[in-house]
Amino acid sequence: MKPELPQLYIKGKVLIAGDADYDTARKIWNGMIDRKPAFIAQCADADDIAVCVKFARENNMIVSVRGGGHNVAGNAVCDDGLMIDLSKMKAIQIDVLNKTATAEPGVLLREFDAATIQHGLATTGGTVSETGIAGLTLGGGIGWLMGRFGITADNLLSAEMVTASGEKILVDNDNHPDLYWAIRGGGGNFGVVSKFKYQLHSFGPNVVGGMILYPMDQAKPALQFYREYARKAPDELMAYSGFIVTPDGLPVTMIFPAWLGDVKDAEKHLEPLRSFGTPIADMVSEIPYVQLQAALDAGAPTGIRRYWKSGYFTDLSDELLDIIIKNIATRPSPLSPFLFFHIRGAAAKTAADSTAFGHREDHWDSDIISQWLDPSDDEKNISWTRKFFNEIRPFTKGVYVNHLSGDDEESRVKDAYGVNYGRLKAIKKKYDPDNFFRMNNNIKPS
Ligand SMILES: Cc1cc2nc3c(=O)[nH]c(=O)nc-3n(C[C@H](O)[C@H](O)[C@H](O)COP(=O)(O)OP(=O)(O)OC[C@H]3O[C@@H](n4cnc5c(N)ncnc54)[C@H](O)[C@@H]3O)c2cc1C
Repeated sequence: MKPELPQLYIKGKVLIAGDADYDTARKIWNGMIDRKPAFIAQCADADDIAVCVKFARENNMIVSVRGGGHNVAGNAVCDDGLMIDLSKMKAIQIDVLNKTATAEPGVLLREFDAATIQHGLATTGGTVSETGIAGLTLGGGIGWLMGRFGITADNLLSAEMVTASGEKILVDNDNHPDLYWAIRGGGGNFGVVSKFKYQLHSFGPNVVGGMILYPMDQAKPALQFYREYARKAPDELMAYSGFIVTPDGLPVTMIFPAWLGDVKDAEKHLEPLRSFGTPIADMVSEIPYVQLQAALDAGAPTGIRRYWKSGYFTDLSDELLDIIIKNIATRPSPLSPFLFFHIRGAAAKTAADSTAFGHREDHWDSDIISQWLDPSDDEKNISWTRKFFNEIRPFTKGVYVNHLSGDDEESRVKDAYGVNYGRLKAIKKKYDPDNFFRMNNNIKPS
């Protein structure tokens, strides 16, 4: 006979195995994750979160925290323990006068952007609109606007949190400043955030951007041109790049620029790129900012199988490009892109120890995003990804914590923080000495 489960009482809904919504609620973006929590607590507010923390402590349960459920590692869901599900907490308030937004942790980027841009305001988000603001902000947040406004965490003014002891606290420059430093890049290690307050900026509504696609025989010259062009561009210009397969099955090289300044200045800055080589397609045009924010959505559908490897490159050397182009040619799944996200401008001008997000130089976050449909293809896609990554790893310098793929990458958490790792361990020890929050890219208390 199964032991009786203890009772958990919150304002929101509590789901257990067998309940109608249980299987839907435990599913997240990465279809490889199939975990079964004993409880899924769909919290309504900070009080519910505090009740959950105390309940898990009393019953000696592992806790996982779900924001948007988009992280590839799948730490949002645990086996057997208590999943604190924040996806129903979706309130957003915009203060137009002071250009700030407060948002609850279940808000997705597309919901956040839609709420701010109607007032001519925005702040840095990510590049796929289904991503949750919570995990993205806590890990750093790199996106189209970072050259102008810094990473998302640079725009975090304050947070309301529930600590590992179940206490509700305000965290900002004046209150728990050590914690305020740590949550801007340190991930979900230090407590559960029930509210984020962001700095917004006058922006939009339109930008000029779109993909430019080149045949694979132009891959190397296109990326050689790109690396120089992207580095010399003003902060208003962001250009990503990589390798994708078109919907009709053609592998191509992609350069994706976006002009994020005054629309009338776009052409003079985009022209050198647009006149380079012989592209198959040039989709650059004036579009709403929210369309740019969703431009990569089609390549990241919810629920399919995935495995990632990621790292930062300070240089896209010819040798590195050759290795990448060689490996792309053997990719087992056409759904798998390889992408370069350029971290630069305001995001790279801040000191490395200004927030926990430790890598502040002009460099590229690069991602082997393996995606496939059939479980029988797991082995071939995972081993291709690992082999490919092993070849490019010697060129990497650190990694973005939000792009670590989980269990087999524990040893790389340190690389994500560089000079900030020791300070993060000390802060973890102060606020969570027994590592209560450990279903994450874990920083162990020193
Ligand atoms: C297709 C795709 C595209 C992406 N593009 C970008 C991009 O352009 N830029 C970028 O910066 N990142 C990007 N990411 C990475 C993304 O930032 C992370 O996956 C992020 O963790 C997602 O946040 P989430 O809330 O949706 O995830 P979740 O899986 O819900 O949460 C991830 C982790 O964050 C912690 N967490 C979540 N909410 C809270 C909370 N309220 N309090 C405390 N801890 C919490 C938990 O440890 C949790 O395990 C992308 C990811 C994907 C899958």
